[in-house]
Amino acid sequence: MNQIINIFYNKNKKSQSIREEVQEKLESRGFTISYDNHPDGILNLCIGGDGAFLRAVHDSNFSPIPFVGINTGHLGFYQEILIPHIDRFIDDFIHQNYHVESLFTLQAQGIIHGSNQSYRHRALNEFVIKNSDNSIIYIDVYVDDNHLETFAGDALLVSTPAGSTAYNFSAGGSILYQQLEGYQLTPLAPINSKAYRSLLNSLVIPKHAVLKMDVRLRGDHNFLLIADGITHEYPKAKISFTISETRVKKLVFNENWYWLNIKDKFL
Ligand code: NAD
Repeated sequence: MNQIINIFYNKNKKSQSIREEVQEKLESRGFTISYDNHPDGILNLCIGGDGAFLRAVHDSNFSPIPFVGINTGHLGFYQEILIPHIDRFIDDFIHQNYHVESLFTLQAQGIIHGSNQSYRHRALNEFVIKNSDNSIIYIDVYVDDNHLETFAGDALLVSTPAGSTAYNFSAGGSILYQQLEGYQLTPLAPINSKAYRSLLNSLVIPKHAVLKMDVRLRGDHNFLLIADGITHEYPKAKISFTISETRVKKLVFNENWYWLNIKDKFL
C-alpha cells in the first residue's frame, strides 16, 4: 500500500486551492491522501494558519502521527512551510531532511462541586478560565496543595511553552522556549486592591507540579474552560492542571525556525 498522508485544512479559498495543488504533487510522488484522519498515516499535514494546526490536533484527538503546517494565513507559529517552498518541503520530507520536535500538552481535570461528575480536556496552547457572563471570576489557586492566591479578575490562563507566544504573550506572560519543562499561569486584568491580592505577573511552574483551582462563582453562573479557543461551559468546579503524558510531534525543517519566527512576529 502507498504511504498515507492525512490532510487537514481550513475552508478559506487560498487553503482550498493550495490543498488541491499539494494533493496533486504528493500523489504524483506516490503518496495516498486521506481526509479522514487515517490511523496508518505517516504525516498530518495542516493547511491554513495556526488555528488550522490547533483544530487538526483537536480533531485528530491529539494524534501521535507527526504534524507539519503549510501557512496560508499571516505568520504562523506552527505553520513552518511557506507556499513558495512546497516543492522543497516535499523533497525534504521524502529524503527525511527534518527533525521531530515533541511539544508538551496540558491536561485539565475538573470535578463539579457537590457531585462526582468529572471531565477532562487537553490543550496544546492554553486553557483560559473565565466567567460565562464576563463578570469578575474568583478562583482559589494552589500549587501542589499550597494556597497561592485568591484570584479576582477577568481570567486566568494556563499555557504550555508552545502556547506561550499566543494569548499568554498578549496578556504579558513570558515566552518559554518550546522544550522547557514547565508551564505558565498568567492573569488577565487581575484586581489588586485592599480587598483582593492577585499576582500581577505570570508564574512559571515546574513540569511535575500540579496547579489546582477552586472556581468560586457568585449566583448561578457557569464558567468557561477554553482549550485552544474551544469553549466548554461548566458549573462550579475544582480543576487540576498538569503537563499531560500526550506529546504533539511536529516536523521541523529549518532548525533556526523558532528564533526567526519570534523575531519576525514580534519585533
Ligand atoms: P487563529 O489562527 O485565528 O489564531 C489566533 C491568533 O493566535 C493568530 O494570530 C495566530 O497566529 C496566533 N497563535 C495561535 N497559536 C499561537 C502560538 N502558539 N504562538 C503564537 N501565536 C499563535 O485561530 P484560533 O482558532 O482563533 O486560535 C486559537 C488561539 O488564539 C488560542 O489558542 C489563543 O492562544 C489565541 N488567542 C489569542 C488572543 C490574544 O492574543 N489576545 C485572544 C484569544 C485567542
